[in-house]
Amino acid sequence: MEKLNGLRCRECGRHYQAAPLHVCEFCFGPLEVDYRYDALKGVVTRESIAAGPPSMWRYKELLPIDGDVAVGHHVGFTPLIRAQNLADELGCREIWVKNDSVCHPTWSFKDRVVAVAVTKAREFGFDTVACASTGNLANSVAAHAAEGRLKSYIFIPADLEQGKVLATLVYNPTLVAVHGTYDEVNRLCSEIADKYRWAFVNVNFRPYYSEGSKSYGFEIVEQLGWRTPGHIIVPCAGGSLITKIWKAIKELKTLGLIDGGLGTKMHAAQALGCGPIVTMIKNDTDVLVPVRPNTIAKSLAIGNPADGYYAYKVAKESGGSGEHATDEEIVEGMLLLARTEGIFTETAGGVTVAAAKKLIERGVIPRDESIVICITGNGLKTPDSLQDRLDAHVKIKPSLSAFDRALADLKSQTS
Ligand SMILES: *Cc1c(COP(=O)(O)O)cnc(C)c1O
Ligand SMILES: [Zn+2]
Repeated sequence: MEKLNGLRCRECGRHYQAAPLHVCEFCFGPLEVDYRYDALKGVVTRESIAAGPPSMWRYKELLPIDGDVAVGHHVGFTPLIRAQNLADELGCREIWVKNDSVCHPTWSFKDRVVAVAVTKAREFGFDTVACASTGNLANSVAAHAAEGRLKSYIFIPADLEQGKVLATLVYNPTLVAVHGTYDEVNRLCSEIADKYRWAFVNVNFRPYYSEGSKSYGFEIVEQLGWRTPGHIIVPCAGGSLITKIWKAIKELKTLGLIDGGLGTKMHAAQALGCGPIVTMIKNDTDVLVPVRPNTIAKSLAIGNPADGYYAYKVAKESGGSGEHATDEEIVEGMLLLARTEGIFTETAGGVTVAAAKKLIERGVIPRDESIVICITGNGLKTPDSLQDRLDAHVKIKPSLSAFDRALADLKSQTS
């Protein structure tokens, strides 16, 4: 079955053969993978998906892979958790956490996009993969390149968190730390991609890479029993994930796998110190004003997001909204999720929890509707953000009497 029509320009609609291309030669619009949904309808069913592996590859027919999966066989199908403690705390009826902080193998949703991009790079005969990264992508490209025995060049802003740097270097890529912002790193990578025949997962392979994010959306719907939630709150960096979750829901509708309407409002979450997409949504303008990032949420620190315009359109079209979180609120969000649900997310997750809380408190998200909060990365990679906030409560000599005294002190403090 031929399921792919190649690539299609998102602006002028021109068609291209499947190739490592990402911009339209005529209008410079971004290219997108084009599927033959007529060929997939009736072939991809709830049953065929359920019969697939417990990974993102249960949706392989809806991903742009022609041959066999080359790397990342165990990526995805992460838990969707009913977060009743958090719901009680926020006075809500139904909150779910889609928990990609435990995605295999590098603890963020970036494993989904990288598994597709690196498999595609193999299909096109590349022997070197590369990326411009705010951290999690670096970890994932380096890991999957190691698994696929490919060379890798990873470009990061030099001020990245130490945890993310080490979790990249361990896989032995060539790591290039650039003195500049992510946006400067990205611009440099565009020039390098023109010159060297490397598969930059989020530059020349961006149309394939970004499709991997759809699996996050497919899983939410399947795990809810083929029901769409009322609201999904999504952390935005380049703005791709939010557009692809929306695309996933639409595809399931097109294929007849969900009943009723689309029924989901998509909400964007960003840091106040780097929130150009949310600013567009709040100001109701489709003109993106780039910013210079200044936030602890480094994995979301993209000042000139490639898919910013499309992310704005998704929030608008779905009837959703957007909210910023200050650095203070980000930390509070991380602590709230940890305290109520026992989930340690990174700063990006703090952004999402904080934005969800504010949207609920402002009445933008009604308390009696179903809500999914997207947790996309793991807190163990960004402990720096909590360093000044948390310390041991008690420090004692190793004796029972010392502990007894400390316990008495603690109790008198809290009573
Ligand atoms: C990259 C990233 C995002 C956002 O992804 P985009 O598709 O670029 O908007 C969200 N959360 C985490 C943890 C990320 O690393
Ligand atoms: Zn075009």
